Amino acid sequence: MLYKYTLSAQREDLYNITTQVREAVANSGITSGIAVVYCPHTTAGITINENADPDVIHDLLIGLNKAFPDRAEFRHGEGNSAAHLKASAMGSSATVIIDGGKLVLGTWQGIYFCEFDPPRNRKFYVKIIGA
Ligand code: ZN
Repeated sequence: MLYKYTLSAQREDLYNITTQVREAVANSGITSGIAVVYCPHTTAGITINENADPDVIHDLLIGLNKAFPDRAEFRHGEGNSAAHLKASAMGSSATVIIDGGKLVLGTWQGIYFCEFDPPRNRKFYVKIIGA
């Protein structure tokens, strides 16, 4: 089963989408398999990281912006090469095991949609595969 979600990303941020992925798993009726969370954009990504302390997300964004600053020598005419770099660093998908009808996530893990070129209306997909 394939589920499509939309997201209005008004600022650069990591948006917690764990609830939507859990909802897709519940709606699928699949109790054993995998969930693939996929972002079909080139300046946004998907990652799994800590959901307990919001300062972790704050610090991730600071670290990414220090690691991938805008640079005068970039040639891409759209002017958002730093966003493309950050998107590639995060990757465009995450795969999570489903067992007992639930996502096998660690206690402190959440699934995040990463927006690096706001404001944008985004979408992401959740594919549930029974196995
Ligand atoms: Zn671009």
